[in-house]
Amino acid sequence: MIYLHYKGRFPQFERFKSFCEEVVDDIFPNELTFDWSVGIQMRSNLCYGMHQDSGICYYGGTDNIISVELARNYIADLGKKTEHTIPYTMKELCVTLVHEMVHCKQYISGEISSLHNSKKMIEGFPQYWWNDNFGHYDLPWEREAHSYEEVLLDLW
Ligand SMILES: [Zn+2]
Repeated sequence: MIYLHYKGRFPQFERFKSFCEEVVDDIFPNELTFDWSVGIQMRSNLCYGMHQDSGICYYGGTDNIISVELARNYIADLGKKTEHTIPYTMKELCVTLVHEMVHCKQYISGEISSLHNSKKMIEGFPQYWWNDNFGHYDLPWEREAHSYEEVLLDLW
């Protein structure tokens, strides 16, 4: 069983919640060996210095609790005088949610790992989720996450 928890201010919260539940039903196998908690947190933005994400998903590796964070806003011209905030549309938020939930599934099935020193290889790639040596779309787990985006958007 996957338990979803929500934190922060979500636009259209009730509808978004049902969407999240349908996405989970679609992505995850019916029978899981263990229960998992997925915390979904809406943040104003996900900026770190000059870098920003629309969503992130991370797992500490031991407690069956996965964290997903979504950015409510995109910061245009980040770090410049003209910096300004542009809210993501509802559809963009949903696409990001789907993408990050696929990463949740990958953590649970062991397809990716948040452990730096993981030696396991997935389709020829070290399974640590981040790898500077490859392009984003080369990584099999990113390709899988992107492949779900448009398909599951129909659930919105
Ligand atoms: Zn990704």
